[in-house]
Amino acid sequence: MADYDLLIVDSVVIDPLKNQEKKVNVAIRDGFIAWIGKDTPHAERILDGEGCMVCPGFIDTHMHDEEIDDPDTTQMALLSQGVTTCIAGNCGSGPLQERIRPSRSNPWLNIGFMTGHTALRGEVGITDKDRYRPATEGETWKMKDLLFGELKKGSFGLSFGLEYNPETSWEEIIALSEVIPRFEKRWISSHIRHDGPRCLEGVKEMVTLAASVRARVQLSHLGSMTSFGFAADALEILHKGKENGLDLNWDSYPYAAFCTYLGSAVFDPGFEERFNKPISALEVGSGNHAGKRLDRTLFEELRKEFPKTLIIAHVMNEDEMKLILKDPYCAIASDAVLFEGRGHPRVAGAFPRGINWLREEGLSWAGAIRHATSVPADMAWLDTGRMEEGSPADLVIFEPENFRDKATFAEPLLPPEGIRYVIVNGKVAVDEGLLNASPCGRFLTRD
Ligand SMILES: [Zn+2]
Repeated sequence: MADYDLLIVDSVVIDPLKNQEKKVNVAIRDGFIAWIGKDTPHAERILDGEGCMVCPGFIDTHMHDEEIDDPDTTQMALLSQGVTTCIAGNCGSGPLQERIRPSRSNPWLNIGFMTGHTALRGEVGITDKDRYRPATEGETWKMKDLLFGELKKGSFGLSFGLEYNPETSWEEIIALSEVIPRFEKRWISSHIRHDGPRCLEGVKEMVTLAASVRARVQLSHLGSMTSFGFAADALEILHKGKENGLDLNWDSYPYAAFCTYLGSAVFDPGFEERFNKPISALEVGSGNHAGKRLDRTLFEELRKEFPKTLIIAHVMNEDEMKLILKDPYCAIASDAVLFEGRGHPRVAGAFPRGINWLREEGLSWAGAIRHATSVPADMAWLDTGRMEEGSPADLVIFEPENFRDKATFAEPLLPPEGIRYVIVNGKVAVDEGLLNASPCGRFLTRD
């Protein structure tokens, strides 16, 4: 009998918490990091890490896996880029646990869900057509009851997509948010009410929310909401909130283009002025016209006939996206979303690209990887994201020289280069660059 299941040899181990790089071996047993040191103890399998770095698996606290008919594509793309744990159901769209679980019982990575405000609205009969009205008092009570039940069943928290339901009342927000601090280690994530010129109002609304209900609030994809000349101001407001003792966090993805459904309120009249960009800055991301730039005729036709078409909007300032990502509290997140297997390259490239952006900004490997591991682990109260004996064995073994995203707007699912192995729950899930045939993940709930 071997002492360990796996031994990773000859690589440089990155410890994001201690900000260290060390040439040591790592042994894994029963799903945990069991030993770190200079020797070579006996293991059932040895993974050659020559020329590689080993770090904790990437943690994606903001992704979407709500397209229940398409259970695998998003998860597999994220796993291929080194993500080992993720939180789905953000931006208001997380479905009820009973709807997700049957199709998510055997996931490719460890995945938990937020309960979505828009999904709750749907459960009480507020359809997409009603998105411009606040919920009634009765509907709010029903949603509150449902949310309570979902948190009991293990939901990680409540997600808002306020830009998608722009007339949601403050009373509705507060009534639902009040439920969160009644459960341990649950939080609120929010796609804020405005992007572009009014984004700071949306940021301030979340600071007020964190202060009012005394719950953790995560501002979703902060870069894509504020990188229109307001990123530095947004960070200043949030830092001030933290200094005042509020529990605020934020995530962002490393692309100067966002992606969402054409039928959503984001593309209501006035968006060209809001983004200060022509309509040709919008690219079709899914369906028969994928890859085409929009003109007025195609915009009107698709919005009417195919509102679920994903649109990639090349409208943000890249320098500001970098400023946000570099902020010490910002987690890299994918915001992965696909429709019929198509979408934005962040689904397959966000983490290598984000880490490389941070490296180009002057951060050390450990400093850059921190934004993909220990920062998001803290945000979600996870025990992963660290490189210590006793920690869960979720790891990425990559070649720093070759580590880069390959996914493009034309080919959004191309896996990155330079990832040799990904370990999920102590099992080799990506083996010499190839996805293993069977999933090694777990459906996560919070007790
Ligand atoms: Zn969003």
